[in-house]
Amino acid sequence: MKSITAYIHFPWCLQKCPYCDFVSFSKAREAIEHRLYADAVLAELARRAPALAHRRLESVFFGGGTPSLWEPEQLGRVLDGIVAAAGEVAPHLEITVECNPSSLDEDRARGLLQAGVNRLSVGVQGLDEERLRFLGRLHAPEGGLSAVRAAIQAGLPRVSGDLIYGVASGDTARPREQDPGEAAREARTLARTGVGHVSAYSLTIEPGTRFGELSRRGRLPLAAEDGVADAFLSIEAVLEEEGFTHYEVSNYARKGEEARHNLGYWTGVDYVGLGCAAVGTVSDAEGSALRYRNLPNPDRYMAAARAGTPTADSEEPLDAETRLRERIMLGLRLRAGLDLEAAAAELGIPAWSEPRRRAADRLARDGRLEIHGGRLTIPARSWLLADGIAASLF
Ligand code: SF4
Repeated sequence: MKSITAYIHFPWCLQKCPYCDFVSFSKAREAIEHRLYADAVLAELARRAPALAHRRLESVFFGGGTPSLWEPEQLGRVLDGIVAAAGEVAPHLEITVECNPSSLDEDRARGLLQAGVNRLSVGVQGLDEERLRFLGRLHAPEGGLSAVRAAIQAGLPRVSGDLIYGVASGDTARPREQDPGEAAREARTLARTGVGHVSAYSLTIEPGTRFGELSRRGRLPLAAEDGVADAFLSIEAVLEEEGFTHYEVSNYARKGEEARHNLGYWTGVDYVGLGCAAVGTVSDAEGSALRYRNLPNPDRYMAAARAGTPTADSEEPLDAETRLRERIMLGLRLRAGLDLEAAAAELGIPAWSEPRRRAADRLARDGRLEIHGGRLTIPARSWLLADGIAASLF
């Protein structure tokens, strides 16, 4: 039976972070319509159930927004509905909830565990007071670590922590850059809490965010590129010393702790998206797929779902060549790389065009790509260039 995963988007946070371009809206915990939102997601699920009916469900991921704000009972109703709709369930179904330290304590972690969740991903983001404030986070340095410890203490079998590096705080005249040693110390402290997985992302400035606007006006302190690259390398060195494998450009795991849900995205597994602003991609037998994006406004999404009308805001057919390009873009971010020829065979198209072959040979000569039969990998020293390398293989 073909694999599938499920993503559920929860569109509210206690406060909007200035760098964030996810669909998320500030809302007080008491104002969130916990039950009504679960009802809406379940109504959407009823319409999308055929996509799950003959598939093996490998993972479920609650992202956002801040899904740790959702009452565990309501999140659990949605989870039960998804599991019941699947044709088959993988024996070690991975069920992850993204959490913010400001909405995760031991009680909440226990509630999520009882609802069936077996993995929490905690947005620690940093361990420096000034930097956290600059990033608009509601928690202090100790708050991130306490949330991770609470999750472990509550008995969650798998816990991951997120870090953001490459941040310059202060003002443009006197930016205070995070030095690579500081980035490494934070990674080591997080690793030593007992987490099995760490995601470390460099800060990216997205248009349409408050940081994007400040940057456009030249009023955002920015870290120098060399410093960001040094931070990347020092985090890698420390986490490898602590027993983690750097298995994807931004992700590290102890043995067996890799995020299976994300591995699904990176290796082209279909996913059903549910909830406001969720994206889904479901393929057909011919190598094509349909990608849909749900309505990005929570009220409009809930009204449509409850009325039994389509919740998608847009739909886009993806042909096999587009899907192969996505597999190249995402697969090359993995240490294991991408079996290009197997991916192309699965999609029913040739792996190599003349230009792609020429580009691959040139990259291999320059030491930026390794080719073993049909498998392509980027050597770790070139990972920071992964997106550009992948694009030249389009
Ligand atoms: S908590 Fe996460 S999803 Fe919410 S605004 Fe901040 S970065 Fe975005």
